[in-house]
Amino acid sequence: MPESNTSMTTASNKAQSEPVALFVSDIHLQPSLPRTTQAFIDFLQQRATRVQQLYLLGDLFEYWAGDDDIATPYNGKIAAAIRQVSDAGVAIFWIAGNRDFLVGQSFANAAGMTLLAEPFVASIAGQRVALLHGDAQCTDDHAYMDFRAMVRKPDWQQQFLAMPLAQRKAIIDGMRSGSREAQRSKPYEIMDVNAAAIATVFEQTGTTLMIHGHTHRPAVHEYQANDAKRIRYVLPDWDCDHEPARGGWLALNADASFSRFDIACSASS
Ligand code: MN
Repeated sequence: MPESNTSMTTASNKAQSEPVALFVSDIHLQPSLPRTTQAFIDFLQQRATRVQQLYLLGDLFEYWAGDDDIATPYNGKIAAAIRQVSDAGVAIFWIAGNRDFLVGQSFANAAGMTLLAEPFVASIAGQRVALLHGDAQCTDDHAYMDFRAMVRKPDWQQQFLAMPLAQRKAIIDGMRSGSREAQRSKPYEIMDVNAAAIATVFEQTGTTLMIHGHTHRPAVHEYQANDAKRIRYVLPDWDCDHEPARGGWLALNADASFSRFDIACSASS
């Protein structure tokens, strides 16, 4: 899978700039996106198997109705593809997104990955990095924050998961179309993370590096806070089945530098 490396890497530091950890989010995997699905499987096989750690930072799936849905061939195929990376010796970590927060220990076991609570502070290549999905910091979206508080309660989840799978999927379908409607009427600003909520994560974790997704607004944000420079990487969403075709990942290299990569959707038909 060809890709473009948008970082400044010179030949002389190539050995040090070998990626040791990869970060992706917001693939929104679903059977109706075959090119996106193939691009992700290509990424797993060709990129993720060559590093030490892979971090899946939420909304890997468009939705997740419960771990019993791993019996669906599509979901089983994704679990097996992640498992292959794990079997190759890569440590795989998962932070839930707002769409796949119902992924549980059964799926984690099948995929060979470790579930993390957010924000998680990873220590990689001598760097401490705060990892999160990003939805919990969209605090200006009050309706979403109320919804999030409800569905993240263990009681709500137990009740929901006790329903038959078909019923759960029907409810999720309704939520997804309701969410699409609501998003159309929300101003651009409130759909982004709140600056104070981000500053709080930096302060509570004691980090100066942060990686998250969710907003589909890939960027590198730099802030000066007291004496320290804070850097926040926002991961892109993936979609090789619609225009503009897009997607990518972030790599943390052995020399503690970061590199951003774009996927090449055309190779994934
Ligand atoms: Mn999200």
